[in-house]
Amino acid sequence: MNNRELFFKHIGQTSPFPLAIEISKAEGVFIEDTQGKKYIDFISGIAVSNVGHCHPDVIKAITEQANRYMHTMVYGEYIQSPQVQLAHLLSSNLPSNLQSVYFVNSGAEAIDGALKLAKRYTKRTELISFKNSYHGSTHGPLSIMGSETYKNAFRPLLPNTKLIEFNKLNDLEQITHDTACVVVEPIQGEAGVILPENDYLQKLQKKCNQTGALLIVDEIQTGCGRTGSLWAFESYQIIPDILCLAKGLGGGMPIGAFISSNEIMSTLTHHPILGHITTFGGHPVCCAASFASLSYILNENLAEAAKKKGEYFLSKLIHPIFQKRRGKGLMISIPMDNNFVLMKFIQLALERGIIVDWFLFADSALRICPPLIISQIELDWVAEQFNQIAELLD
Ligand code: PLP
Repeated sequence: MNNRELFFKHIGQTSPFPLAIEISKAEGVFIEDTQGKKYIDFISGIAVSNVGHCHPDVIKAITEQANRYMHTMVYGEYIQSPQVQLAHLLSSNLPSNLQSVYFVNSGAEAIDGALKLAKRYTKRTELISFKNSYHGSTHGPLSIMGSETYKNAFRPLLPNTKLIEFNKLNDLEQITHDTACVVVEPIQGEAGVILPENDYLQKLQKKCNQTGALLIVDEIQTGCGRTGSLWAFESYQIIPDILCLAKGLGGGMPIGAFISSNEIMSTLTHHPILGHITTFGGHPVCCAASFASLSYILNENLAEAAKKKGEYFLSKLIHPIFQKRRGKGLMISIPMDNNFVLMKFIQLALERGIIVDWFLFADSALRICPPLIISQIELDWVAEQFNQIAELLD
């Protein structure tokens, strides 16, 4: 059997129609398949490859760390330089209340840890999140997911959850002194890149402060420079009580984190001790990769680059099909007439060697999320291809 046959036989499948591109290698903005066809990865493996694939700094950091040590002990017991250096780098680039970093392996785990932390700190149980939000697929994040369709198939889930509508001020009244936390994506990703209106997020923060509910900001998709600032919350003048990161944090390696104040985080250490534990969280090789990736993002000011490149790319999309576009930095969505048109667009783009996608809760919107290192020439070429594809769809 060849790898394609083995993939369908032995790899647990997530949908009846996987892309099934057989990967040979990936470098920078490009992915190459085993037939030698080259694709521009215009979705960054879904918001992961912010510094591109196999960035040389990341490879060097991984190699050096792997030669020194890999796993030595479960999280939180030994002092490991890659972990503490990454935590220091993160906290140096965050508001002063976000100084304690708990490393995990994925976005879902970061959210799960944050939910537990909020319940433990506030001694409350109600969890509020948003319609059309996505925070991961394990039971905790699934319980607060903004889609009844996805949740219904797996009930019973966590009790005492409530969904409110993003950008709807009246719904903020549902946040009360019973609420442990409100989990929010500063820009809703899987909803199709929905931006917060006016000072909505500030009003949300105010309501949380008034009621004592913790504000958990999920920057798993928006973080690490993607939207034109290092963290999206910066551009909306809010400060999370707990910040969740993953995806682009690892430079291509699996890592997540939930970050809070020392005061809040310390509640996980007693009554009971070991209130949250993980074997592989903060793996030294992943932390070294993350440190290299984050340093590159900061040193090269890739956040500012994302802002300029996003604006530049959109200015090159001249066909009316792209009119309804929205986004921030290099996190962009282009709603199309319907799912049929979008799927045709995605297929034609793939044929031309451009990987694009749709969104979980917006299946007629085109997802654009390239590596932040993409060049102007590459953006010009993709824009030209997009305009041509749009002509074909007319
Ligand atoms: N939160 C957001 C906003 C996401 O976009 C995702 C993944 O798409 C997650 C959480 C879950 O991350 P992971 O797939 O690493 O569990």
